[in-house]
Amino acid sequence: MTTEIASSSLSGPMVRAEGVRKSFGRVEVLKGISLEVARGEVTCVIGPSGSGKSTFLRCINHLEKIQAGRIWIDGDLIGYRQVGEKLHELRDREVCRQRAEVGMVFQQWNLFPHLTVLGNCLEAAVRVKKDSRQLATERAQRLLERVGLAHKADSYPSQLSGGQQQRVAIARALMMEPKLMLFDEPTSALDPELVGEVLDVMKSLAAEGMTMVVVTHEMGFAREVADTVVFMDDGVVVEYGDPQQVLARPQNGRTQSFLSKVL
Ligand code: ADP
Ligand code: MG
Repeated sequence: MTTEIASSSLSGPMVRAEGVRKSFGRVEVLKGISLEVARGEVTCVIGPSGSGKSTFLRCINHLEKIQAGRIWIDGDLIGYRQVGEKLHELRDREVCRQRAEVGMVFQQWNLFPHLTVLGNCLEAAVRVKKDSRQLATERAQRLLERVGLAHKADSYPSQLSGGQQQRVAIARALMMEPKLMLFDEPTSALDPELVGEVLDVMKSLAAEGMTMVVVTHEMGFAREVADTVVFMDDGVVVEYGDPQQVLARPQNGRTQSFLSKVL
């Protein structure tokens, strides 16, 4: 029986959103978002400022509560337990478990300034994931190596460039061994010459098969790395498909108009 459950969770999409709605006060910012993110694929979400991209990512990661619709991560309904037709809110402990399965990297990396690079990596793994310090330290060293910062383990965030800090933020998110990584404009706050090093780390993660949802204005990255590009405008998914289709031959007038401004 256990095998059946395990294998069923290995099929189907990593993320499935159905009719997701979210309002702030009377302003509806997500007006019924439905999309799927396949396992091991990279989905880039593009669209004008204010279209609801960050809000959607935040809903996937329990940072916002949705008012309608459903989101499943790896087949697991998030925030709720379904009994028949009824939904019951999950307890905090269950929400924590679900959140720990999803890594998120923000535009502002928000490292703890009083902790070293290694300390930043260890924090959640030891406190939330309850890994032993030794196990977590070994994993942190491997991940710092992978983002090219093993030599900075004992530095403090203020001693690093923005690009290096963002790479630490990625390593820190990976410490939780997430099933899914969400990136919200991870390079938007960086000086142009530092963007490449962060995108390179993301590319290598993608190449290793990590499932990623990336909100970005880096159209080159989307074209090169995305399996699917989603164009959002005004709280809806206007158009989605492979990058060739959406970026090079957009069908919708709103996509065409947006791309004419950013490409
Ligand atoms: P994007 O990331 O595409 O720029 P956002 O998801 O940040 O868009 O925002 C979508 C809309 O929701 C914007 O109009 C924004 O002002 C509004 N919004 C986002 N977060 C909040 C909040 N916490 N309270 C009120 N309004 C919000
Ligand atoms: Mg945003």
